[in-house]
Amino acid sequence: MRPQRILLDLDGVCNRSPMSFLKYVGCPVDDYSYRDYPVGCGWDLVEAANRLHPSRKFSVGEFWDTIDRRAWATAPESAEFKWLLGHCEALVGRKSICILTSPTIDPDCLAGKLEWIHSHFPKWMHRQFLIGPRKHFCARPDALLIDDADHNVAAFREHGGQAILVPRPWNSLIGTDTFQHLAEQFDALSRRELTV
Ligand SMILES: [Mg+2]
Repeated sequence: MRPQRILLDLDGVCNRSPMSFLKYVGCPVDDYSYRDYPVGCGWDLVEAANRLHPSRKFSVGEFWDTIDRRAWATAPESAEFKWLLGHCEALVGRKSICILTSPTIDPDCLAGKLEWIHSHFPKWMHRQFLIGPRKHFCARPDALLIDDADHNVAAFREHGGQAILVPRPWNSLIGTDTFQHLAEQFDALSRRELTV
């Protein structure tokens, strides 16, 4: 079935927050590139920070305490962001796209994410978002999740939804060309029939 609604992840998909957070806490990384992300850290951003930082070792709490509202609000856009939004619009139309983003336990995270949405998305997307950690609650056969987390993609599929995993160095598609992969996925979806 061709998807008729799209749930679009924010962090690591529309923006570069994992890399910009590493820079924010003092790691010597280029946040416009993924080349500095330590291979083998997977989803463990704190472990990545501890491998990269020249002098500090963060506990999980210390690391996330450093990531304040400004850090969430000011993460740069990903290279794919505008392209991706355009392809989502072409596939399902403006009214059927919704941002779906999981917060940390810090209220500043929610505020920063909302700031990010308002300063980077076009106005027609400003009221099309859901913030919550259980993304699979949105799964249904005609729904497509676009996300950079293997566990979110797996759970969404297990609950009957469709999903595209966005290649990043912290997920199982490490080494895959992101634009090429996304283009192939969208091309395949657009060829599908509208109903089963
Ligand atoms: Mg993400």
